Amino acid sequence: MTTQQPAHVVVIGGGILGVSTAAHLARAGAQVTLVTDGALADGASGRSIAWLNSSGDRSAPYHYLRLLGLDRYRTWSARRPESRDYLRFDGALKWAGPGESFRQTFGYERAGGYDSVWLDRADVATITPDVNADAVAEEGAIFNPGEGWVNLPDLVAVLAAEAVDAGARVLQHAGRARVEVTDDVATGVVLADGTVVPADHVVLATGGEVPAQLAELGVEVPDATPAAFVLFTDPVDVAVTTVLNTPRVAVRPTPDGRLVLDADWAEKSIVVGDDGALVVPEESVQGLLDEASKVLAGNPVLTAQRVGAGLKPIPGDGDPVVGAVPAIDGLHVIFTHSGATLGLILGELVAEEVLTGTPSPVLAAFGLGRFAEGADLGEVGIGAWAPVPQR
Ligand SMILES: Cc1cc2nc3c(=O)[nH]c(=O)nc-3n(C[C@H](O)[C@H](O)[C@H](O)COP(=O)(O)OP(=O)(O)OC[C@H]3O[C@@H](n4cnc5c(N)ncnc54)[C@H](O)[C@@H]3O)c2cc1C
Repeated sequence: MTTQQPAHVVVIGGGILGVSTAAHLARAGAQVTLVTDGALADGASGRSIAWLNSSGDRSAPYHYLRLLGLDRYRTWSARRPESRDYLRFDGALKWAGPGESFRQTFGYERAGGYDSVWLDRADVATITPDVNADAVAEEGAIFNPGEGWVNLPDLVAVLAAEAVDAGARVLQHAGRARVEVTDDVATGVVLADGTVVPADHVVLATGGEVPAQLAELGVEVPDATPAAFVLFTDPVDVAVTTVLNTPRVAVRPTPDGRLVLDADWAEKSIVVGDDGALVVPEESVQGLLDEASKVLAGNPVLTAQRVGAGLKPIPGDGDPVVGAVPAIDGLHVIFTHSGATLGLILGELVAEEVLTGTPSPVLAAFGLGRFAEGADLGEVGIGAWAPVPQR
């Protein structure tokens, strides 16, 4: 990499995107400080379904970026056999809800060369024996053999350790930091206790907090971040390897033999208290357990270990917001949904942009500039027909 290396880069946010960026920067020889409010992975990265995919229909640039995301995970997996504990490509199965069909989605995926196989109900027991074939839509389901899942807290821990080995400083439990801007230049980061950490470049990767933090700097970014939750089950006796995206529940296994569950209907049931506290109704917890039991072979009895609730970062138009902040020199932002799928690739590309000063063509469609008045919005991301979960 040709570099005009900034002397010191401060990354704010200890989720997958901040830590991945810090690790890539440190590996490339930059002086890096990562600061985060609490513990590493205590945000969305610690409560994600983390299905690795480019399923369904989206713009060509976004599909390409996600394929690069999958590519980096495959390389990671090949080079680090021990990652099989927390990173798996055992495939994913999805089927449509009542009155819907995934036939067109399947045609779209096949036309783009995406690894997608149509399964009739009769094939389910052979290809995905962990799934209850009777629960699958009558028309059948789409199996994507190349998809998988990652347990982000494990990946974050490995990346953070690598960053530290490469000389980075990681400040956990630093409280809420903010970017210091002087004359439209990011000059450092102010920690909660008032300490100023000077920086030549700042990367803002605070997940669902990004829009509010940018607004404080006078930069607007459309925001569709909802409150969301996942449910972690107690360890299960049955072997579940397939990631499931079904009309009523999404399911993926964890390294310690649990399942992680979520669903749109359950997300919508969250009650936000006056003090901002998120309350997940007991019926939603039991409902998710029941729905997951129905779609698993043998209908195992599932019990809840814990709920992980908080913000699910989603930019207003659904696509990632990544790149230099036009109005402020020396500031990069990463704010995206699908941050599990994109975790390695976005850290790599943002680190490269920061170090070289050259915008990545791969990220051209994802800059803040697209929200400027009169900007050419290019391709529309989400297809009209696809009732496919977008994660
Ligand atoms: C329920 C759910 C399901 C999901 N499913 C999928 C999926 O299937 N596939 C997929 O690819 N993606 C999925 N995602 C999205 C993915 O998990 C997120 O995009 C990703 O984890 C975001 O990572 P992040 O680093 O941007 O943010 P976070 O993980 O939220 O990390 C941000 C960090 O910044 C810290 N912070 C915030 N403000 C400050 C501040 N002022 N100062 C210092 N630190 C601060 C926080 O404490 C936090 O640690 C899902 C997310 C959720 C919530």
